[in-house]
Formats: sequence, structure tokens, C-alpha cells
Amino acid sequence: AAAGPRRPIRELPDELISQIAAGEVVERPASVVRELLDNALDAGARQITVRLSAGGVRLISIEDDGLGIPREELSVALRRHATSKIASLSELETVGTMGFRGEALAAINAIAELTLVSRATGADAAHALDGRTGELRQVARNTGTTVEVRELFYATPARRKFLKTDATELAHCIEATRRHALARPDVGFAVWHEGKLVEQWRAAADRDQRLADALSNEFVAQSVAVSHVGGAVRVVGRAGIPDAARSRGDQQFFYVNGRFVRDKVLSHAVRSAYEDVLHGQRQPVYALYLEIDPARVDVNVHPTKIEVRFRDGREVHQAVRHAIEDALAAPRAGEAALPAG
Ligand code: ADP
Ligand code: MG
Repeated sequence: AAAGPRRPIRELPDELISQIAAGEVVERPASVVRELLDNALDAGARQITVRLSAGGVRLISIEDDGLGIPREELSVALRRHATSKIASLSELETVGTMGFRGEALAAINAIAELTLVSRATGADAAHALDGRTGELRQVARNTGTTVEVRELFYATPARRKFLKTDATELAHCIEATRRHALARPDVGFAVWHEGKLVEQWRAAADRDQRLADALSNEFVAQSVAVSHVGGAVRVVGRAGIPDAARSRGDQQFFYVNGRFVRDKVLSHAVRSAYEDVLHGQRQPVYALYLEIDPARVDVNVHPTKIEVRFRDGREVHQAVRHAIEDALAAPRAGEAALPAG
């Protein structure tokens, strides 16, 4: 459109700033689930319950048994750029928590009706804060936090129009929970929809058990253990045998220091490792966990933190490629090598 008469430069009102920022972090109900699960895990939760209504559009409630938030900090938690996780640039460079930007609760509060209910460790009562009115009241609950999010995008109808059916949004919410569950086998997860339990993964003894529970027994049976150290990078997890490859890449999970990521270096390394054994468009299945000194990876690249940047991409590429190639080449347990000839 042609420029109209010039308007003066003005700072945007706070609420509008938050609504604009929310667009980067919250695309759909599953984005809210992801952020709230990050927070629950950062708080040391052992058991997390996700309750949804209408695919999460009407209600997302996430309850944890973590450290909780002291009453006097509840309203601070909803402010923009307010976080307990970092306090300086040097802490950002070695951050070990899932969160650190202090944006999620403020963003969600700007585009939905949010209630923050919490009881901090050692506190003698729980309190509920209404994100809209700021009203604080005492309630009953054990140590931990519940965040309730109602009527997502009520204030931004344009965004709401992009949502798919409830069933599709529910599937994305479940997938977001599954991604966290695959990172943290020691934590129990349950997902309810419209009052019905739809997924439950109990705290598991080890990663393979969680992979079996949250993916399938078949995933574990048709994959080989990966365990490899290359330079400063450690890669563990499971890589599917070629026969387990699928037409869709829907069982491909990559984690960097416990965070689910999508990364070109990593997916290229996986593709090269499978190059000689997979043909056509077949997609390998895998759940791989990369551990690397936090100072060697920048997680502050994208508001949703799904992208990372490695200081030494080549080292990471090699480590991942070799990890998979070695695992696929090793004889599988229970399959004695056939005598030659
Ligand atoms: P960030 O996770 O980046 O710090 P958030 O907006 O997600 O930012 O959360 C703000 C703060 O609120 C967190 O730093 C944390 O102190 C507190 N908080 C949020 N969710 C929880 C929770 N489930 N349990 C305990 N504290 C929480
Ligand atoms: Mg957070």
C-alpha cells in the first residue's frame, strides 16, 4: 500500500508487544504444551499431567510436582523477560535448563486466559494467580505447579483461524509430550483429553524402556544401540536397522543436551550414515541423544529453541555419522556372526 501521511514514532503498548512476541513462540496448542513441559522439567518434576480440552484450544492444564513458585514471585513469573534460570551473559553461554528467555508465560498470558497455581517447597499454602486480573487467592494443593491456559488465541482471532481440527491439534500436543518423554525416561507423563486418559508413560528404569513405552516394542527390537565418543561429543541412543525404515520420517528424534532439535548438520550426518544401506526415499527411525559441553553449542538461535548452532559443526557431523555407522556394522546381540564360507 502507498505510504500515507507520516505518523510519529511511538513505543508500542506493553500488551501489544507481548502479543507480537507470542506469535514467535506460540503457533498452536502444542507450542504451549512444549513450553509448559520445559518449565515443569526445569522445576525438577517427577510426574507431569497434561489435561486438554478441544485439542488444547479450550484448555491446556499442566500439573507438576516440582519445586513450585513462592507466592511473592507468582506475578513476576508472568512478566516479560523474567526468569530464575539465568542472571548474566556468562550463564547464558553455559545454560543447562530448557528455558532461559523468560518469555513463555508472558507470551501465553498475552494471548490466552492463564492461571498460575503453585505451592513452593516448604511453603504452608498454595496460591492461584489470575493472569488477567492479577487477583491472588489461596487454594489447596501439594508442592508443585499447575498452569491452566484457556481459550488460546481468543485475543488474536487471525491466529486462531490457522488451527486445524481438534483431533489434529491433540495429535500435535501428544507428539510434543512424547518428545519430552523420550528425553526424560525418569519422569512420568500422562495426557488426558476431555477427561479420558489418552497416553501414559510411567517413570521408566532406562531409556530403552521409555522408547518401548512411548514409541513401540518394535522400535527397540528393530534398532541397534548407539554409543560413541568422538572428540568433545558423545552420542548415545538407538538407530533403526535398514529394514525398520519407513516411508515417513515420523520416528526421528534428535536431542542435544536433552533438548529436542531439528538441525541440518545432524540430519545430514544421519543421512550419510545410512547412505549405503537405505535406498530411495526410505526414512530411517532413530532416537539419538547428543551430549556436548554447553559452551560448544548455542541454543539461543530461535525463540522456540528447536534450532541450535554448533561451534564445531564438523566434529558433530563426524561423531554422529560414525556413531551410527559403527552401531549398524556391529553384530547384533543374540546374532552370532556366521562362520565365513
Ligand atoms: P523461562 O522458562 O525461560 O525462565 P518462563 O516464562 O517459561 O521463562 O517462566 C518464567 C519463570 O517462572 C521461570 O524462570 C520459573 O522460575 C517460573 N516457572 C514457570 N513454570 C514453572 C513451574 N512449572 N515450576 C516452577 N517454576 C516455574
Ligand atoms: Mg520456560
